[in-house]
Amino acid sequence: MQHQVPLLIGGQWRNADGRDTGPVYNPSTGQIIARVPMCGMDDVDAAVKAATAASPKWADTPAVDRARILFKFRETLDAHADELARLVTREHGKTLAESRASVQRGVEMVEFACGIPSLLMGQTLPNIAANVDCETVRHPVGVCAGITPFNFPAMVPLWMFPVALACGNTFILKPSEKVPLSAVRLGELLLECGLPAGVFNIVHGGRECVDALLTHPGIHAISFVGSTAVAKHVYETGAKHGKRVQAAGGAKNHLIVMPDADLEQAAKAIQAAAFGCAGERCMAGSVAVPVGRIADPLVELVRANAARMTVGPTDGGAEVDMGPVITKEHLERVTSYLDIGKTEGARVALDGRDSKSKEGFVIGPSVLDHVAPRMRVAREEIFGPVLSVIRAGDLDEALALGKNVPYGNGASIFTRSGYAARQFKQYFNAGMIGINVGVPAPMAWFPFTGWNQSFFGDLHIQGVEGVHFYTRQKMTMTRWFASAQESAHDPIWKSG
Ligand code: NAD
Repeated sequence: MQHQVPLLIGGQWRNADGRDTGPVYNPSTGQIIARVPMCGMDDVDAAVKAATAASPKWADTPAVDRARILFKFRETLDAHADELARLVTREHGKTLAESRASVQRGVEMVEFACGIPSLLMGQTLPNIAANVDCETVRHPVGVCAGITPFNFPAMVPLWMFPVALACGNTFILKPSEKVPLSAVRLGELLLECGLPAGVFNIVHGGRECVDALLTHPGIHAISFVGSTAVAKHVYETGAKHGKRVQAAGGAKNHLIVMPDADLEQAAKAIQAAAFGCAGERCMAGSVAVPVGRIADPLVELVRANAARMTVGPTDGGAEVDMGPVITKEHLERVTSYLDIGKTEGARVALDGRDSKSKEGFVIGPSVLDHVAPRMRVAREEIFGPVLSVIRAGDLDEALALGKNVPYGNGASIFTRSGYAARQFKQYFNAGMIGINVGVPAPMAWFPFTGWNQSFFGDLHIQGVEGVHFYTRQKMTMTRWFASAQESAHDPIWKSG
């Protein structure tokens, strides 16, 4: 019998009994390795009840004690990092090195959350008016939910719940139904660290489960990471039901290469940005923009380097540079863009279909050259190992491409010119900027500042913005009676 993925409600693991289930694949082999329950309103309601019951005591637990559980969790994750990375590779398909790096990024979120006693401090101003003091403190929001995508099975859940819990909230995680195994393992490890029952819960499923979370009156805040269409739906529906929402969406990230760039460095960075994690990253560099005379040598170098990449199964097989994509359907979708690009007039400089393997959902890296801004391969998120190359005549033409797409996640420039770097930093239409860096994804201490249709909401995930998202402020104003009559006659009250 296939492994059944359990739910976590009120500290108890429940099996899928009687619920519809969906398949979880190992993308390296194409085999089903588990079945995940598709939860609906009943399970969500049970999780909300458990989270609500646990909420008052957890909110009253001193921040220092909450942080101590997270310190323990950090050590536990560190001890299990390799096991977690293997699980990520098994259900997602990225290489073990990529999985290890992603788990490390997640551990850093826990390290950030361990600083919560300092992060939660409020502000105070004595004597804001005569004998009146004013202060703000931060309270938890209540019950929070996190809905996560398939592409980082451990890291993206860790973007959310450590900070939410540290702030004194209780949490319900709904991981991607394509990769629920790493999330379940995170839950097991968290419970081992002494987290009280009901503080952290896990439900599974797709749209029905998400909609139950978005409309349930007992949930106060929703964190979402996924595609733009769903991010918009989550933002609108969550807000309509009175919740605060942060919803990170899709992307089409540009990598501009100026003629004065270090060619070798830029080509390597573009290769890693476009084909790392098989292009299944919201910060993947999916459009290269060589400016002027560097175009021919750059495209040739990127093509030649990519053509040498080894591609294949990552779970149990030989070491490869790039693994499979997530599902058969996604493989077909990615492949279809190669035909779309060709039909629209792009030149296929490297065709990933040539390295398709019989086993698993494998496709090699592709390079589409002479792409025009109007083409679908220039504007739509492919979310696979396909690099589109738009050749630009000058810096201004390259900068204007930031307005060619509805997204605004990340963008990078490769140059030795301070002027070009500064213009790019100031004027490119995206929220995360790299200068001679291929993937400008911030670490835990800085916010993940996507713009435009790459983010819906006000307060981003990560960094201090994350703490602000998971807390609400309370202001207290106090009037002091400086010359209280009963104390005026008693010398013991005199201060000076
Ligand atoms: P997705 O939008 O298909 O799924 C994300 C989550 O939403 C999953 O938990 C899924 O179960 C749920 N979901 C799917 N369809 C739904 C629907 N119709 N209604 C309600 N819920 C639904 O995204 P994905 O394919 O899992 O992940 C890839 C996407 O995530 C890409 O677009 C990528 O750019 C984006 N992403 C963004 C960031 C970021 O920080 N901006 C980070 C990682 C991934």
